[in-house]
Amino acid sequence: MEKFIKRIPKEIKEIDRYQKGKSTAQVKEEYDLEKVVNLASNVNALGPAIQVIDTIQAEAKNVNAYPDSESSALKEGLAAKYDLAAEQVFLGNGSDEIIDLLLTLILEPGTEVIQADPTFVKYELAVKSRRGKSVKVPLTADYKHDLAAMEAQITDQTRAIFICNPNNPTGTMLQAEAIESFLSRIPDDILVIVDQAYQEYITDPEFFSGVDQLAKHSNLVLLRTFSKAYGLAGMRIGYALANSSLVSLLNKIRGPFNINILAQQAALTALESESYLKTCHDLNASQKEALYQKLEKLGLEYIQTESNFMMINLEKSDQEVYQKLLKKGVIISPGSQFGMENWIRVTIGTRADNEFFIRNLKKVLMN
Ligand SMILES: *Cc1c(COP(=O)(O)O)cnc(C)c1O
Repeated sequence: MEKFIKRIPKEIKEIDRYQKGKSTAQVKEEYDLEKVVNLASNVNALGPAIQVIDTIQAEAKNVNAYPDSESSALKEGLAAKYDLAAEQVFLGNGSDEIIDLLLTLILEPGTEVIQADPTFVKYELAVKSRRGKSVKVPLTADYKHDLAAMEAQITDQTRAIFICNPNNPTGTMLQAEAIESFLSRIPDDILVIVDQAYQEYITDPEFFSGVDQLAKHSNLVLLRTFSKAYGLAGMRIGYALANSSLVSLLNKIRGPFNINILAQQAALTALESESYLKTCHDLNASQKEALYQKLEKLGLEYIQTESNFMMINLEKSDQEVYQKLLKKGVIISPGSQFGMENWIRVTIGTRADNEFFIRNLKKVLMN
């Protein structure tokens, strides 16, 4: 092997690459289909608000310039929304980038990060890329984070704990009380990173916001994104709300122009489109109830969700059902990729998307 490759640490070489699902275009082409409904990646089925599309179009002529390195207008917009100082807001090229930067700051080879199992696959990838160790703690019987068991895994090597709330892939959520009491028990030299990618879809009134906890807990990081409810996954923009000293360290190690010009403007307009966000939330809330009813009629077990996706237990090979659904033009995520064999994860789409899914699921399960 080439010498330079030999020098690369084995922990890096052993990483399994992130498995991206098939795209709508790929499935259309591969199976010669006209209609394909993609319910695999939890993006907003309604797309971004129309004002956001207008903003992106209007801004397109300015892309010869570099973006504002500070993303000042957007940062201030977010600070105002949450009644925080702009210095407590950090913007990233998706929350993915923020996860990477946070771990770059705090991990050294051999140090540990505690996470649930299953949870968002990105965490483990990011930890392994920095030659750290992911300590995985199984979910409780009701598919929620087992905070007591996670706390019990703390050692002098622990640098961070991820809480994905609502959790991807299960859609389950811990209420405010549970997370607040957890925070009060965790030493403040361990970061508690609460990933709130699906925050805008929550319907449970006892939800954890965390914004009011930032003043109390300097080790708390809230991660949010424009990728899901705001419909901007392709723009790559997410943010963290955290202690200003931590934000200032993150600013030292980020790319100076990590948020592109279109993303800054699109996100700012999206923030101002509150009523559209409510439309998306309400559609998701009503469609999840409609899906529950249909699944009950089919006699299928499912996990109640606080997000825009849900896990369904098919009691038969998820890989097989995944393949059969693909042929019919429905893309879902097989649960075995998260260690939940026989389950599938399905994004809640529009009413028409969901009906198309249920119709085809029935057909696939019949034969
Ligand atoms: C989709 C998702 C994100 C969003 O990542 P971006 O990089 O902001 O697109 C973050 N966390 C979880 C758990 C997700 O499912």
